[in-house]
Amino acid sequence: MTDTRVLIVGQGLAGTALGFELERAGVPFAIASDGHARSASMAAAGLVNPVQGQRFVKVWRVEELLPFAESWYRATGAELGGELWHPLKLRRLFANPTEAARAARKQARGELAPFATAMADGSGVEIHGAAWVDLPALLTRVAERWRANGVLRESAATRAELQVDADGVTWRGERFRGAVLCVGAGALAREFFPELPFEPAKGEILHVTGAELAVGHALSRGTWAIADRAGHARIGATYERGVEDVAPTAAAREKLVADARAFVAGDLTVIEQRVGVRVSLPDRLPAAGWRDGARIGLFGALGSKGTLFAPWLARRWSEALSGATSVWPDALSVTRRLAKAARVE
Ligand SMILES: Cc1cc2nc3c(=O)[nH]c(=O)nc-3n(C[C@H](O)[C@H](O)[C@H](O)COP(=O)(O)OP(=O)(O)OC[C@H]3O[C@@H](n4cnc5c(N)ncnc54)[C@H](O)[C@@H]3O)c2cc1C
Repeated sequence: MTDTRVLIVGQGLAGTALGFELERAGVPFAIASDGHARSASMAAAGLVNPVQGQRFVKVWRVEELLPFAESWYRATGAELGGELWHPLKLRRLFANPTEAARAARKQARGELAPFATAMADGSGVEIHGAAWVDLPALLTRVAERWRANGVLRESAATRAELQVDADGVTWRGERFRGAVLCVGAGALAREFFPELPFEPAKGEILHVTGAELAVGHALSRGTWAIADRAGHARIGATYERGVEDVAPTAAAREKLVADARAFVAGDLTVIEQRVGVRVSLPDRLPAAGWRDGARIGLFGALGSKGTLFAPWLARRWSEALSGATSVWPDALSVTRRLAKAARVE
């Protein structure tokens, strides 16, 4: 008999969101996780920002993604016994007159509505709808739940171990109808989907004390600072395109502290430094879809926007695995054309 279970490989944000959606849809699954030592989700600040970058770009389909993400994290937090979604008052400060002029032009054309309004003193824009999500809490609580109910397999699932045939996938003697790779930076090994031009970008963030920033407030001027609890803030993130190692560096620490001191008052003391690797495709959109006769799937390339995209994409994946016709849009397909010129930010 063909097995109806799905194998999820990787328990970062993508694998966690997918497993949760499969639970809700009643689709049986098991999840292979090699732990969180290399998980970008454990390093990330979980910032959700509808208007991003030096060019003030409204995120792709943000009008749909943002309310979905908020209700997903709130419902999931309620189920797990702790709030995950923390709304932020985010002020995006202009780094120079060029940025100010660019933002003013976009606002005059109505391109940033309803997510940005000018600050009265002209120093930046207020971003509406921003939040931070406690991703480490989500991953840790879900791992406990899946350890307890027996779906978690605490081991890597390597390419050599996954045997694909016409009816499904075998992994360590267990049968599955298919495997969905949610491996984050694991995709850079190009064992699966070698045709996709994945790009790494190392990122470092700091946890500091002493920032004089009210809880629930955040400032950004390229580098951002988020006051996530009384007396504490996260400062980040560096972005080193093409770098894949996860070693913390003094240079990143010094840069982030110097950047933050320019716009955050207080005596900042670093108490933690985290590192992870983001994985993107050239158009900076995620990738989802099947290969090998719908036996091996990909849910990845979440880049710097995983917090916003993962719940919505997990729902699309769950619909696909439940037999619904609604699947991911062409813009996110693993078979889309990818050229450098296709960047959206
Ligand atoms: C410093 C930093 C700051 C960031 N800040 C933000 C932010 O503020 N907002 C935002 O939206 N995004 C942010 N990001 C990006 C965000 O972290 C990612 O978009 C998202 O977390 C990626 O989730 P993922 O599940 O695809 O990958 P990961 O979280 O990396 O998870 C992949 C998991 O799969 C496991 N794995 C890999 N191979 C195997 C295998 N063969 N078998 C079993 N398990 C395997 C890995 O160990 C890992 O646990 C940041 C990233 C970094 C590095």
